[in-house]
Amino acid sequence: MKLLFVASEAYPLVKTGGLADVAGSLPEVLRQNGVDVRLLLPAYGDLLESLDTRPPLVAELELAGQTVRILEARLPDTALATWLVEHPLFSQRPGNPYHDPQGKPWADNAERFMLLSRAAAQISTRDTALEWQPDVLHCNDWHTGPAIALVHLEQRRPLTVFTIHNLAHMGLFDRATFDRLQLPGHFWQGDAMEYYDNISFIKGGLVYADYITTVSPGYAREICEAPGGMGLEGLLQQRRERLVGILNGIDGLTWDPATDAYIEQRYDADSLPDKSLNKQALQQALGLEVRSDLPLLGFVGRLDQQKGLELMLPVLPQLLALPVQLAFLGTGEALYEQQLQALADAHPGCVAVVLAYNESVAHRIEAAADIFLMPSLFEPCGLNQLYSLRYGTLPLVRAVGGLADTVVDASAAAMASHTATGFVFREPTAEDFLATVQRACRQWQDKETWRQLQLTAMAQDFSWQQSAARYLALYRSAPEQ
Ligand code: ADP
Repeated sequence: MKLLFVASEAYPLVKTGGLADVAGSLPEVLRQNGVDVRLLLPAYGDLLESLDTRPPLVAELELAGQTVRILEARLPDTALATWLVEHPLFSQRPGNPYHDPQGKPWADNAERFMLLSRAAAQISTRDTALEWQPDVLHCNDWHTGPAIALVHLEQRRPLTVFTIHNLAHMGLFDRATFDRLQLPGHFWQGDAMEYYDNISFIKGGLVYADYITTVSPGYAREICEAPGGMGLEGLLQQRRERLVGILNGIDGLTWDPATDAYIEQRYDADSLPDKSLNKQALQQALGLEVRSDLPLLGFVGRLDQQKGLELMLPVLPQLLALPVQLAFLGTGEALYEQQLQALADAHPGCVAVVLAYNESVAHRIEAAADIFLMPSLFEPCGLNQLYSLRYGTLPLVRAVGGLADTVVDASAAAMASHTATGFVFREPTAEDFLATVQRACRQWQDKETWRQLQLTAMAQDFSWQQSAARYLALYRSAPEQ
C-alpha cells in the first residue's frame, strides 16, 4: 500500500504544536508496518537551513501556472522518505510557518497552502516525474483541505482521509482571495467549501474526504454538536458514518523519562524517587526556591484562550497561597504573556515563567513537576497530558475531548481500584479549577497514595502501535459510495 501523508509541520523539521508530533511519528510507524509512505511538507526556509546538506531535486511540478520543486529528504532519525515542496512562498519566509513575528497571519497564506494542496493533488492523480502515485492520500488540518477537494474532481483517484487536529482553525479567506486562487466556481457553495461568505479550506477535507478522522473519540462526539462543531456540526453530523475518533499516540523515543537526553536525571517506575532530582535542577535553573516540601505545578503550551488561561489566571494568587510553586512555558497572546510575567515579577522564587518556544524546557518541566496543568476549554486530543502520564507527573485536566478520554480522575473508587491517573474537573470555571488544584495538593501530601497514582499513570500505554493499526484498517476499507 502506498500512502501520501500531507501536513504543514512535522517534528523535528518544523513544529508549532501537536500536529507536528503526529506527522513526525505516525507516518514512520506506518512505514515500519509495511506501508510505502511519503511525507509531504512545505520546504520552509528555516527547515532547509536546519538540514546538513541540501536535499536532491527529484521532480518539478507545474501547478496552476506556478512551478514547484520537489526535494527528497529523510525525516531525521527515521528512514521515512520526505518530499519537500520548494517554492519562494515557503523558502523565502523565515520564522513561524503561519504568522509574522507580531502574530498576524502571513497575508498570502491562502496562496501558500493552496500550493501545498495542489502539489499533493497532482502527485495523487497524475503521472509525474516522481513515478509514484498513492493508494491513499491522508491530509491533515486546514492547510491541506483543498487537496482532498481537488482530488475528488478526478476519476482516477486514491482513497482520501482527512484528519482534524483542531477544528478552530478553518483556513478562512474572502471572496477576492477565492477568485485569485482559480478554483472551480462550484467550490464557492454552501455544500462545498463556502462558509459564511468565506472560503474555508478545512471544509474541502470535511465535505469530500472518503473518511474523516479526528484525534480522540471524545472530540469526534463534541464536534458533531454545538458549540464544539463551531458551525460545522450540521455537516459533521451528516458525515457521522464516515467520521472516526482515533486517539493520538506518543513518540515513545522522544518522550521517555528513562532515556530523555534533555533532563537532569533519567528515571523510570523502578527509580521513581530519582524524579525529585529533576525538580531540584529545574528549581535552580529557573530561579525558584529549592524546596521539596511544596508541590511544583507545571504548564507547557500555547498561551491561547483554548488552553484555559482564563480559568487559571484569576486564581493563580490563591494557588500560591496554598502554597505551591508554578512553572509556565509558552508563547502566545500578548496579554497572557504580560499577566504571567507580572505574576512572576511579583513572586520571585515561587513563579517561573519562560515566554519562549523551548523543547528542552518542555521536557524538563514534564520531568520536574508534580502536577501538570491542562484546564483546556476544548482539547482535540492533547499530547502534554500523555507525556505527563509517562513522566509520573499527574495531569490535572478539564473533562473535554481527548483529556477526558485519557485521564482517570482520582476519585475514591478509582483510587481503590488502582485505575486513577490524575485529576479531572468539569465546569469551565476558575472555581472548579481552583478546587481541583486544592484537592490534588491535599492528595500530594499523602506520599504513599501519590506514588501509587504515579505508578498507574506511568503504566498507561499510549504508544502509536494501536492507533496506527486503526489507521491501517481504515486505509484498507473501501467505503460504500
Ligand atoms: P496543541 O497542538 O493544541 O498546541 P498539544 O498538547 O496537542 O497542543 O501539543 C502541543 C505540543 O507542543 C507538545 O508537544 C508541547 O510540548 C509542545 N509545546 C507547546 N508549547 C511549547 C513551548 N513553548 N515550548 C516547547 N514545546 C511546546
